[in-house]
Amino acid sequence: MKGACLCGAVEFEVAGQLPNLYHCYCSLCQKQTGGSHNTATLVDEANFNWLKGQDAITSYQKGTGFSAHYCQNCGCPAPNTLDATGKYWIPAGLLEGPVTSQVVLHMHLDSRPPWQTIPTHGHQFATMPSLATIIKLLQA
Ligand SMILES: [Zn+2]
Ligand SMILES: [Zn+2]
Repeated sequence: MKGACLCGAVEFEVAGQLPNLYHCYCSLCQKQTGGSHNTATLVDEANFNWLKGQDAITSYQKGTGFSAHYCQNCGCPAPNTLDATGKYWIPAGLLEGPVTSQVVLHMHLDSRPPWQTIPTHGHQFATMPSLATIIKLLQA
């Protein structure tokens, strides 16, 4: 499945079955998306390929360790590696083509804005579960 940013400068491809998706409602994701949460998934590095535009991606590092990678032309979030996990973080909204994966995990619900309703499905966490838990739930 192909993915692309808003302006089309950045393109990538994910091979094989796309894992399930998660929503993160943390305060950083709210700022970064401009909404109540981001929707993303994690795929194995072996299943991820850049098609073009890797040089158009820049990043912002916050002191706490949070980093945002984005297209410098259009500001759209871009995939990036999660160090030492062997996974790529994929912003779900960039994916083109039929996505049949479900949102199975909601995290940092304690931080959600008051105008965001509580989800009625999927696994729910007040803060952030362990990375192992996230990976397991996304694969299930
Ligand atoms: Zn772009
Ligand atoms: Zn977050």
